[in-house]
Amino acid sequence: MSVSAILKEKGSSVFTLASTLSIMDAVAMLGEHKVGALIVSDNGETIDGILSERDIVRGVAHFGSACLQKSVADLMTRNVITCTEEATVSDLMELMTKGRFRHLPVVRGDKLVGVVSIGDIVKRRIAEIEREAEEIRSYIATA
Ligand code: AMP
Repeated sequence: MSVSAILKEKGSSVFTLASTLSIMDAVAMLGEHKVGALIVSDNGETIDGILSERDIVRGVAHFGSACLQKSVADLMTRNVITCTEEATVSDLMELMTKGRFRHLPVVRGDKLVGVVSIGDIVKRRIAEIEREAEEIRSYIATA
């Protein structure tokens, strides 16, 4: 299954925020949208960074509650690994395993067109495995 098929199913809406906002703003957005990471984009189209729950946990461990007043730019990861719509589920699993992260922004050129999380991948992979098992079962039953 390709990233474009995943985006067709789940939609291409992406929650972005500006790097100048505070970590408190980011916490509110993460809670409101029930997601684990936000794409940082100052123009809403191209990617400046990514901020995940883990960055905030690390920030709290380092700065204590003062972390909440820091800016998104202070804690975000700037070197963002992305994928394209042509990538496959197994490409994404490899990128996430190697990079030890759970979110991959999808780009067309330098424009953000979606985001895929490890949860999206696990859901599709399980569906694929169940479909393959069903095909094998019906093949055996008719053989
Ligand atoms: P995650 O597992 O996605 O919550 O993120 C773990 C760490 O990796 C955090 O420091 C994130 O900012 C960073 N991170 C998440 N996704 C990416 C990505 N696609 N490229 C680079 N870093 C990322």
